[in-house]
Formats: sequence, C-alpha cells, structure tokens
Amino acid sequence: MLVANSIEEVRKIISAQKKAGKRIGFVPTMGYLHEGHLSLVEISKKHTDFQVMSIFVNKIQFNDKKDFENYPRETERDLKLAESAGVELVFLPDDEEMYRDRLTYVDVLTLTDHLCGAFREGHFRGVFTVVSKLFNIVQPDVSVFGQKDIQQAAGIEKMVYDLNFPVRIIIAPTIREKEGLAMSSRNKHLSPEQRNRALAIHRSLQAAESMIESGEAGASVILQKMKQIIEEGKPDKVDYVSITSYDTLQPVDRIENKSVIAIAAFFGTTRLIDNMIIDKGDKGFKCIY
Ligand code: AMP
Repeated sequence: MLVANSIEEVRKIISAQKKAGKRIGFVPTMGYLHEGHLSLVEISKKHTDFQVMSIFVNKIQFNDKKDFENYPRETERDLKLAESAGVELVFLPDDEEMYRDRLTYVDVLTLTDHLCGAFREGHFRGVFTVVSKLFNIVQPDVSVFGQKDIQQAAGIEKMVYDLNFPVRIIIAPTIREKEGLAMSSRNKHLSPEQRNRALAIHRSLQAAESMIESGEAGASVILQKMKQIIEEGKPDKVDYVSITSYDTLQPVDRIENKSVIAIAAFFGTTRLIDNMIIDKGDKGFKCIY
C-alpha cells in the first residue's frame, strides 16, 4: 500500500494508474477507522480497480474547537486496517498541504437548512469544500459515502450534479454494532453507560419502522413516539428528531414519497446521529437503516 502526504505525489500515482486503464475508487475519511469505513472500500472495489482512501481530520468542518481537538486519531492502526481492506493508496495530508490559502469555499444551499445544518454552523461548507478539493486531487471515477451521514451524502450528490464533477457517488448502508448503535469514530468517547443509553436511538428507528409498516404516515404521530423512546435513554440533549423529504431534506407532515427520518442527540458530550430512509417499494414503504 502506498502512502502519500503531498498532492503532487497523489497526482503522479493517479495519473500512472489512469494511463494503465485503471478506474479509481475513492473513500474519504477522517480516520480512526471502523468497519463502517471499511465497508465503503468493499463497495468501491466492486466498481473500480484502484482503491484510494484519504485520512484527514478536516479542521474547517468542525464548528466546535474541542470536538476537533478531541477527535480520535490513530494513524498507524488506520494504515494497517486500510491495507487489510485492500486500499492501494492512502492520502494522508496535513493542514498545511490542504489549506495554504482559504479564500474559496463550496456550499450547497437549502439542503443544509435543516437537520445538522441548522445546528452546526459552517460544518457542511467545510465538508463540501474539502470533498471538492479531494475530488480534484484524486480524480476518482467512483466515490462511496455512508448513509449514516445522510445530509452529507445528499449534499455531495447535489454538489457533484450542480458542479459537474465527473464522479459517480454511491451511498452505502450504515454499519452497526451488534446492539444496533451506528458505528462512528466518536463512539470511542462514550462510557459503557452512555453507550447503553444511546441504544434508544436505534430503538426509536425500529419503532418508526413498525408504525410505518402498519400504515402510519403522519409525521407528528411517528415523531412523538420516537421522542418518547429517545427520552427513555436520558439523552443529555436532543438536537432534532425530524422527518423530511429525501430530495429536499425539508420537513414533511406526511410520508408520501421517499423520505428520511433523522436524529441527532448528545449522550454525555458526544453527539450521535442516525437515520432511516423510507422508500416506496412494491408492497408499501420500505425502511432502510
Ligand atoms: P468520517 O471518517 O466519520 O468522516 O466518515 C467517512 C465516511 O465513512 C463517510 O462517508 C461516512 O458516512 C462513512 N461512515 C461513517 N460511519 C459509518 C457507518 N457506521 N456505516 C457506514 N458508513 C459510515
């Protein structure tokens, strides 16, 4: 596995691979890898020939300085995991390499009005900016993102469409711990007791699924039940429990078309997010989470 710290090195390696006719798959990450990240590489391998991963804790997407400082970092372990997953090139830049000047940003409007966008000022602008830069550096044919960060994935799909990036975006399923907690690098900060309480998030999604399967479509009825279940986990703060349209990420009163149910809540000082996509199947709505 190759490890490149500079943009120039990445460009050279990618250009040689492209000349050899290889299709480039790309998984951007902030490291502290877990099975969720590695599942994205697995999917990327099915569509491309040369796997690139970036590991970069992107300062400009953190609206909370402490969160940035405490973000878990373990590069040696990450490199071993990436190699065992079949990654062929890791791009591991430092801040200086990525942000010499910082006058240009990329943003996606309206899709970021609600959900995390309403609570984390500047976060998505930081994400879309770094992903644009990474796409221009790596020039992937395919890039895979996790459903766990649904607003991020939807925003990147929109950005790629609006700005004509020549890359196909794939949104991959959320990988969970056995008990249902969505895997996240930030889970490291949860005490066993907080982790246990946080399972209420997954239980609330299961309850929503049962209600939707039995024909309930009213957002307020579903949300009321979900909030009650989340409260049973005694969250330290709930940012939102919302039902939105999938295409616009704007709140809806009823589930009529493809929709998203999304949650953000703090357990201790750790902010957890999770979501479910509700899609129309042949026999009514299908819940994916
Ligand atoms: P991060 O390192 O948290 O920035 O995440 C890098 C990529 O991994 C993003 O596309 C995330 O959506 C994705 N990801 C994070 N957690 C999971 C998970 N539990 N299952 C699937 N993908 C995930």
